Amino acid sequence: MIADTLKKDKSSILLIYTGGTIGMKEDPAVQALRPFDFSQILAEVPELAKFACRIDSYTFDPLIDSSDVEPALWISLAKLIESRYEEYDGFVILHGTDTMGYSASVLSFMLEGLTKPVIFTGSQLPIGVPRTDGKENLISAVEIAAAKDGEGHALVPEVCIYFDNVLMRGNRSTKINSDNFRAFRSENLPPLAEAGINIRYNTGLIRKPDSWDLKPTFHKRLDTRVSILKMHPGITPDVVRHILCSPETRAVIIETYGAGNAPSKEWFLSIVKEAAAMGKILMNVTQCIAGSVNMDIYATGKSLKEAGVTNGYDSTTESALGKLFYLMGLFSDNVLVKSMLELDLRGEISK
Ligand code: ASP
Repeated sequence: MIADTLKKDKSSILLIYTGGTIGMKEDPAVQALRPFDFSQILAEVPELAKFACRIDSYTFDPLIDSSDVEPALWISLAKLIESRYEEYDGFVILHGTDTMGYSASVLSFMLEGLTKPVIFTGSQLPIGVPRTDGKENLISAVEIAAAKDGEGHALVPEVCIYFDNVLMRGNRSTKINSDNFRAFRSENLPPLAEAGINIRYNTGLIRKPDSWDLKPTFHKRLDTRVSILKMHPGITPDVVRHILCSPETRAVIIETYGAGNAPSKEWFLSIVKEAAAMGKILMNVTQCIAGSVNMDIYATGKSLKEAGVTNGYDSTTESALGKLFYLMGLFSDNVLVKSMLELDLRGEISK
């Protein structure tokens, strides 16, 4: 439902509430946090009324802990933003932190040619708690979503995560801390903006649309037949074969060591080759939180490349997953998906 027009003036923002800690409170019956009615969030943040912009809200029903996020939510978000795109100058999505990196990543691919900001935020402490980080996160996210340059164009026409004074590209962000206010990091790309006394925008890094006049394309078909194989010492041939060669999957993200390395053992490479021969899309992403895959440095990486594994460069796993869901939803041809994977589509990789 659309509710609560706070103030009519220049900019207009749609605040979309999906759930998460930011809007939770303790249910004494079970002594656990549960989502509550969004109208209470607005009551908790009267500062929002002081913005010279109109803020409307949309509340998902049911509200969810983000551990329950499914692709259906992403499709609903894309549909909602598409249907309201002309009415608002920016969108702020309140979302649980646990899977925010996944949601921001996949939305960055689903919303192509954005001319307006889509800013995810949430909090580590519920907004009603005295030391909450939710207020600052929400207030600054709204300010960023409403910010325009001298020509009236959005300053940040991208899908982003704003958290603890830092604005990060959504498809570069990962949750790295479960109890610190600095819950997210973008290790392979500097912040798009940092909030201090003023919000300082890193304008050289912020992506701009090819045309400000064209409406974005909203891609709403996702193919989720993807698995993730995390390499670890002691992994067995049975486990590797089960994941790489499963008839249920079209693609597997292989989380490798360091610069994209995996065991050089004959059994491992032969299973990788078997999966590649089945036509599987195999994508190499490093387990390291920073840095890139380079399959030309070590023999162990080279053999993966020769076996037909695609380079994920410095992609996060969240971004690799979203990119695969999106590209596989667009194309049925795995060879085409593989070639598109190596392109930088939304600023998600550095090449
Ligand atoms: N479990 C919560 C969620 O992801 C945590 C949070 O919002 O920070 O919905």
